[in-house]
Amino acid sequence: MEIKQYIQENEKRFLDELFSLIRIPSISALPEHKKDMLACAERWRQLLLEAGADKAMIMPSEGNPLVYAEKCIDPQAPTVLVYAHYDVMPAEPLELWQSQPFEPEIREGRIWARGADDDKGQAMIQVKAFEYLVREGLLRHNVKFIFEGEEEIGSPSLNAFLNEHRELLRADVILVSDTSMLGADTPSLTTGLRGLAYWEIEVTGPNRDLHSGHFGGAVANPINVLCNLLSQITDDDGHIAIPHFYDDVEPVPEAERQMIASIPFDEEAYKAAIGVRALKGEKGYSTLERNSCRPSFDICGIWGGYTGEGSKTVLPSKAYAKVSCRLVPHQNHETISRLFTDYIHAIAPDYVQVKVTPMHGGEGYVCPISHPAYQAAEKGFTQAFGKKPLAVRRGGSIPIISDFERILGIKTILMGFGLESDAIHSPNENFRLDIFRRGIEAVVGFHLELHLQNI
Ligand SMILES: [Zn+2]
Repeated sequence: MEIKQYIQENEKRFLDELFSLIRIPSISALPEHKKDMLACAERWRQLLLEAGADKAMIMPSEGNPLVYAEKCIDPQAPTVLVYAHYDVMPAEPLELWQSQPFEPEIREGRIWARGADDDKGQAMIQVKAFEYLVREGLLRHNVKFIFEGEEEIGSPSLNAFLNEHRELLRADVILVSDTSMLGADTPSLTTGLRGLAYWEIEVTGPNRDLHSGHFGGAVANPINVLCNLLSQITDDDGHIAIPHFYDDVEPVPEAERQMIASIPFDEEAYKAAIGVRALKGEKGYSTLERNSCRPSFDICGIWGGYTGEGSKTVLPSKAYAKVSCRLVPHQNHETISRLFTDYIHAIAPDYVQVKVTPMHGGEGYVCPISHPAYQAAEKGFTQAFGKKPLAVRRGGSIPIISDFERILGIKTILMGFGLESDAIHSPNENFRLDIFRRGIEAVVGFHLELHLQNI
């Protein structure tokens, strides 16, 4: 049976199953939902078995349990590991919802509910594509599933779990449906994410706040010095001036630059939406390159001295700033942190003391568009959406994706079907039914194409 027909004949059951998950308020942020977490994990376990898994189980972690399932076709065959999460964000503010967040409704061709997209709806796409392949006898490789219950609170137990179960989770590629596309008519695949390094800087001058009339001009002002230091981190061309900062930055491949240039992007609307007259960034790169595949530096906060009402003439003892760099794949956040700290100390004058404290960091991620599993995802999308998807790097970070690569040594394909209009994490979250159907088709296409590729 063709996949389109299979979806048509079984859609009512697919939705009933999805709704049974949505009705369990698996809100990981709220401790009173502990019971719901377990109930939701158990419901997924049943559904994965019914969909065709050989076995499915609930596995404990330091926090909420994970659901694991697998279908082994041939121990020698490649393995795809599907990651998703069964927890959802709180639904508040409730008064802004048009229908109950945990009582799904279909209106205007969309499912309205918390988790309709993120990530119960998207996870269901994966499971129903799998079900079709199993029932039709079309699966040629092994599939494993790992569904987490703490994604929305930052996956605090996932690293330990991955380390502990490396053998069980062994796979050739990870498949995740938890990101969004550029638009319903502009299908896209996320191929890259940026990393992050974050610091606090403390500049100390005199041992107490001084009278700026008595001391001003004779003693260095820590806020003046801090501003001066921060101004030396980037140059006029928007390059980061820290020595060796770019050593590990890989140039963006020409094919990808062309792909980025073909993304529909209205620079005037972008400027208007944020209320700026002009944009500023690294010389030699377009806006979309600057905010996704090039590193950047930002001062996130700066304080010191007198900031209350009226004026107070003071030469403060201390000044502070919180600063961060968005990093690109292959830049190690610890190396960057060391280079940053060394640079600040090297340019700091001897009339102040400077302390740099690293706060947190994470690695970036990139999946080359030449990767066979990416090619398979591209084919799947093209068949389902009638258009070749664009490869898009995102400027933000999803730490678990780089953790998968670091701990399990596996690349992830981010085959997400969300839309901006899905309002994930907000009131009136929804998921378009036509995208739900196409998503299943695209994932089926991915698996069928993967048979032909050599992963
Ligand atoms: Zn999600």
